Amino acid sequence: MDFGLSGRARDHLDRLQDFMDARVYPAEPVYAAQRRELAALGREHHVPPVVEELKREARRRGLWNLFLPDATDPAHGLSVTDYAPLAELTGRSPVLAPEATNCAAPDTGNMEVLHLFGTPEQKHRWLRPLLDGEIRSAFAMTEPDVASSDAANIATRIERDGDDYVVNGRKWWITGAADPRCAVMIVMGRTDPAAPAHRRQSMVLVPMDAPGVEVVRALPVFGYQDQHGHCEITFTDVRVPAANLVGEEGGGFAIAQARLGPGRDASTTACAPSARPSGRWS
Ligand SMILES: Cc1cc2nc3c(=O)[nH]c(=O)nc-3n(C[C@H](O)[C@H](O)[C@H](O)COP(=O)(O)OP(=O)(O)OC[C@H]3O[C@@H](n4cnc5c(N)ncnc54)[C@H](O)[C@@H]3O)c2cc1C
Repeated sequence: MDFGLSGRARDHLDRLQDFMDARVYPAEPVYAAQRRELAALGREHHVPPVVEELKREARRRGLWNLFLPDATDPAHGLSVTDYAPLAELTGRSPVLAPEATNCAAPDTGNMEVLHLFGTPEQKHRWLRPLLDGEIRSAFAMTEPDVASSDAANIATRIERDGDDYVVNGRKWWITGAADPRCAVMIVMGRTDPAAPAHRRQSMVLVPMDAPGVEVVRALPVFGYQDQHGHCEITFTDVRVPAANLVGEEGGGFAIAQARLGPGRDASTTACAPSARPSGRWS
């Protein structure tokens, strides 16, 4: 088996290395200083401006949405093995480089879910601005009351009521939900408790500003707060249109499995099996 880099991977890697050396590593102390300034103003979950500068520069250099094959330009369609060394490199500046290149979790997994399973309307409303780095998103699966490493245990209720779904439950460790740019969550919950274990779950899109969504707190990790936050969130009679269902009812567990293959972060993405979507999104 040939583990050598393809010409396309080599080209991206060289240009990414140049971007890292010229822009990303020098921005690390700037980021730290800006975070301190924001924290002093009580805005520790606001993004430091240097991140948005890096995003513009990465996009200008054609280093954008590298995780998604055929995202908007076939010239950027990278395979898993093409992407792996790029993810390894961005992982050397894990706070800055993945977001600068629009390859940061949890948006990568969410974009892939929408790319694979979203309706045209869902893609227009949520995937397009995510691909453009205009908003951020969260993936709300884990719950304090159940062993959530097995997604079949997830207990949040998603109940059909006329043309809507109504969501009730409690989640925690929801990455990204404290960032003011976070506009939408993919929420996993039970639509049919009586169905076989792996057909009970579904996923719905819940806007962050939907009535009944409450971000209770951002949990610290080893005593520190990440900029985007890992949040405890309650859902109390949160009502969303039935058109916000992702994929089919009862398909949530399967989507979670598809998402976790490529969707975690730079390091796990590099090791993931070939579960990446193919085909073109438009
Ligand atoms: C920094 C951070 C960010 C995160 N971001 C997100 C996010 O964005 N969205 C999200 O939904 N979640 C997120 N998580 C949550 C994470 O995915 C879960 O913590 C993880 O899946 C484990 O689930 P759990 O905490 O419920 O642990 P549990 O499932 O309770 O597992 C605890 C331990 O028990 C073991 N165990 C569980 N069940 C069994 C069993 N039946 N038999 C034997 N052993 C068992 C597990 O292997 C593990 O060692 C995040 C967590 C962290 C720390």
